[in-house]
Amino acid sequence: MRDDNCIFCKIANGEIPSTAVYEDENFKAILDLGPAQKGHTLILPKDHYKDLTEAPEELCGKAFSLAGRIGAAMKKGLGCAGFNVVQNNGSAAGQTVFHLHIHIIPRYADGPQIVAWNPGTTTPEESSETAAKIAAEL
Ligand code: AMP
Ligand code: ZN
Repeated sequence: MRDDNCIFCKIANGEIPSTAVYEDENFKAILDLGPAQKGHTLILPKDHYKDLTEAPEELCGKAFSLAGRIGAAMKKGLGCAGFNVVQNNGSAAGQTVFHLHIHIIPRYADGPQIVAWNPGTTTPEESSETAAKIAAEL
């Protein structure tokens, strides 16, 4: 399962060079070329899925578990204080490469805010209505 026009298919399968931090039969984890912070890593499945909506459950479980392992290794190896796990789906969400990937971004003490939003407001009625719209499609 791969897409011949996809750069992350080529990287994950070793046809385009990258700086790898990890590889197994399912994934390659590489350093991001435009790191948000030193050590910013991407987990790429070797198979092509455009985003999270296409990926099988077992692979998702392995990917999330690997994200935790890499984050723990960053804390030990790079001395970061924490890490963010970010995963964009769709261009409206900031996805620019349409091959599923997970960002693991180290966070250093006193470093810049990277993943943040301004909390909005809601009402119990609006929350119920919104939850029902999502639940109806699951
Ligand atoms: P996203 O916006 O979630 O689709 O993230 C795509 C990420 O891929 C960005 O952070 C880019 O810096 C990164 N990127 C794009 N091309 C490469 C590449 N050839 N090697 C490493 N990272 C890349
Ligand atoms: Zn691909």
